[in-house]
Amino acid sequence: MSKSYAVRNIALCTKDCLCLYVCPTGAADTENSIIDMEKCIGCGACANACPSRAISLVPREFPPQQRHDDEVLLAMNTLLSSKANQENIASTIDSKLAKAIEKSNRIMAEDIIREAGYMLPQSANTRTFLESQVDNPDIKEIVTELMSLIQPNEKVVTKEIWTCSICGYIHTGEMSPDFTCPLCKQPASAFTKS
Ligand code: SF4
Ligand code: SF4
Repeated sequence: MSKSYAVRNIALCTKDCLCLYVCPTGAADTENSIIDMEKCIGCGACANACPSRAISLVPREFPPQQRHDDEVLLAMNTLLSSKANQENIASTIDSKLAKAIEKSNRIMAEDIIREAGYMLPQSANTRTFLESQVDNPDIKEIVTELMSLIQPNEKVVTKEIWTCSICGYIHTGEMSPDFTCPLCKQPASAFTKS
């Protein structure tokens, strides 16, 4: 089995079919336009031939997400909550500057989420998040299906999730009695466990 396989971005594909001609295994020639990953040997001929750059090679197995120690995760969570708050405030102000601030905060928040591993579907962080949502009746079905499709590629350590009832800050891990919310400075008693 090859280490990578080809995927086609249908939105970019102009359907000139060059990939079908160069593919040595017929993997690119499918009725539903999705390249057959079982037949694909990852040679890259289709990606090189595609005039629309609609084909990319992706690895079959992703490396584990880089681990962060708890202090780094705490700092990232604090920064993320702060960016989300700033985005919410900016979204209520009707000016071009506020819109620019809102957008900038969203981009920074997404960078932090990516850095923390929540955007890798196979990361332990994502698995922990899915597990926390499996009892949500609105999305139970899709969450269950995602969990059956996506296997984590690193050890999942189930952590407690605590939410500040005052500002919404989320703390993961144990809740010590002397903990204070890094955002609104409320004591541990203001947090509820989910
Ligand atoms: S070569 Fe590229 S643009 Fe042409 S059919 Fe294949 S994916 Fe689509
Ligand atoms: S990478 Fe090679 S085998 Fe896979 S679809 Fe493209 S041309 Fe075919």
